[in-house]
Amino acid sequence: MIEVRNLTHRYGDRVALSNVGFEVTPGEIFGLLGPNGGGKSTLFRVLATMMAPTEGRAAIAGHDVVREPAAVRRKVGVVFQTQSLDKALTVEENLRAQGHLHGLSGVTLRERMEGAMARLGIKDRRKDLVETLSGGLRRRVEIAKALLHRPQVLLMDEASTGLDPAARRDLSRHVEELRAQDGVTILLTTHILEEAGRCDRLILLHQGRIVAAGSPGDLCARIGGDVVVLQAAADDAQTLAAQIEQRFAVRAAALDGRVRVEIENGHRFIADVVEAFPGAIESVGLHKPSLEDVFMKETGAGIA
Ligand code: ADP
Ligand code: MG
Repeated sequence: MIEVRNLTHRYGDRVALSNVGFEVTPGEIFGLLGPNGGGKSTLFRVLATMMAPTEGRAAIAGHDVVREPAAVRRKVGVVFQTQSLDKALTVEENLRAQGHLHGLSGVTLRERMEGAMARLGIKDRRKDLVETLSGGLRRRVEIAKALLHRPQVLLMDEASTGLDPAARRDLSRHVEELRAQDGVTILLTTHILEEAGRCDRLILLHQGRIVAAGSPGDLCARIGGDVVVLQAAADDAQTLAAQIEQRFAVRAAALDGRVRVEIENGHRFIADVVEAFPGAIESVGLHKPSLEDVFMKETGAGIA
């Protein structure tokens, strides 16, 4: 449904995307996860036909985004990172104005509005001014707006940024429903790990490159065993990491005053390491590998 091949984009000398390629199959919820500056919005703008890439190609529903932008726009609904609602208008008025832009009117427009509001659970807020709505509700109005022309694909750039965890989960639930009931294919960008973890598959973008790709489960499973996180006393994580590598023949990565080690039987390692370096470790944590660990393993950097 979405096909991206050897995509590279430069702003002047700055490389924002470097040889990116992936495919999204119909009905998938696909994520682009990466820190600020990773290249998510650049890729998003190319797919939304707002900008031609420097090199490579992308197609949605069989239409090339550069050569057939009008055909692509008929197939996609777009939710931008910056909000696009008129706050002084009601929910309904915002939707109607958008419908008119798509050439919809009369009974058809009314039906489309009803359908979109029902799907996003905002029917009872139709007469409310957008400025009176919470951030989460506004996001849902934006999605309803993006769906009026019944696109097969929904593109969302950081749709859940600024929402609290409950509103984020709520938004994810509506997106999931959209896929389940209407078969819409969804591509979303995010820097929020929890949201990325709810996608079927995702790519991790770092400095414009794909550093890992797969389902959240598969990606995490590539890190065997446990992840042990040690808070270094005196904040000297570099020294502690070097000492641990020497003593235990494991890889130890220092970041933000902490040392991370991927290891089987983490509980045993914790006992050994605390005994080996008395006083050098302030606190200890153990968890199963997460997407954050995958990102750190591939880049040596954190996401947030
Ligand atoms: P993200 O959405 O993941 O934060 P972006 O795609 O916005 O990443 O940015 C990727 C890189 O391209 C960053 O280094 C950013 O500074 C740069 N960039 C983004 N937009 C522009 C622009 N309009 N002009 C110049 N550089 C840009
Ligand atoms: Mg962005």
